[in-house]
Amino acid sequence: MTIHRAVVARVQPLTGTMTRITFDGAGLATFTSTGIGDEYVRLFLPHGPDRGDVSLPETTDNGGWQTPEGRPVAPMRSYTIRAVRPEAGEIDIDFVLHDHGVASGWAAAARPGDVIGLSSPTGLYSPPADLSWQVLITDLTGLPAVTRLLEETSDQVTTRAVIEVPGPSSVQSLPDRPGIRTTWVHGGNGHGPSRLAELVSAAIPPGTDLTGGYVWVAGQTNSLRSVRRYLRKDLKLPVERFKVVGYWVPDAETWTERYEALPAAVRSELDSLWDEPDDEAEDLTIRYESRLSEFGL
Ligand SMILES: Cc1cc2nc3c(=O)[nH]c(=O)nc-3n(C[C@H](O)[C@H](O)[C@H](O)COP(=O)(O)OP(=O)(O)OC[C@H]3O[C@@H](n4cnc5c(N)ncnc54)[C@H](O)[C@@H]3O)c2cc1C
Repeated sequence: MTIHRAVVARVQPLTGTMTRITFDGAGLATFTSTGIGDEYVRLFLPHGPDRGDVSLPETTDNGGWQTPEGRPVAPMRSYTIRAVRPEAGEIDIDFVLHDHGVASGWAAAARPGDVIGLSSPTGLYSPPADLSWQVLITDLTGLPAVTRLLEETSDQVTTRAVIEVPGPSSVQSLPDRPGIRTTWVHGGNGHGPSRLAELVSAAIPPGTDLTGGYVWVAGQTNSLRSVRRYLRKDLKLPVERFKVVGYWVPDAETWTERYEALPAAVRSELDSLWDEPDDEAEDLTIRYESRLSEFGL
């Protein structure tokens, strides 16, 4: 992993709920895209009011990172690379403005010259070789990834995209060509109950012929638990035919607190759920998430 120093070059409001920030700077000269449409990076944000002072971590031998001795820890968040322009040394990231987060607040106030750190990217979208159709479903946080995936998917692939946004003013223009069908749904996104689970089962009802298909779903973590279970257990999709990625945690401030308040025996039982060496990671995740739900987490 590499940590790059990135400087805000431009800020462009896209809608009332999303703003695009373009970064450049010498630190991005070695930034290398994976070429995968949902690639994301970890952003390291300023720890205090000085928007030019970022405590950039150092990379470690095991591929991780650590804060240099004596320096404050930079708040870290994950964001999608919406676009990369290597010839200009620029990247774009689209931030949801949701009123109460470190990253969202930073983005809402961003000005040219502000500095952050960002890691080398990782892509998760991984369709099978026989891909002929795909379903992409997300809330606002996955809109940058879905837009890029739509731009980069071949014309031979049919795409059904469903995006849950807070309301009509969050709708953006998306690639529109034969083979792409997009539906905007209003709700979720911290403004009301998320319908992501119901949207997935409506888009891929039981009995769907899944030959050549791939399903990618991202958004609010707790609504994705039943999505993962539905795709894997009800539709019996092989793991290579879907990707479900939790993008944000509702009530994130108290989640860790509530987890740590669980009895030690429960926490150790939860940890031990990951120790089944022969099980697919998806199946372990389903078991883990279902236990978390039982404890109200
Ligand atoms: C792989 C990946 C890619 C992502 N790509 C993007 C992206 O391109 N653009 C983007 O905007 N986000 C993206 N996200 C989601 C983003 O990382 C989270 O929304 C993150 O919590 C925002 O950090 P914050 O500091 O603003 O809020 P936090 O400090 O993390 O959270 C503060 C409070 O805000 C709430 N909150 C967090 N996010 C939201 C939200 N979106 N809507 C409503 N309430 C929220 C939390 O529940 C918490 O109560 C991505 C996440 C992942 C894992």
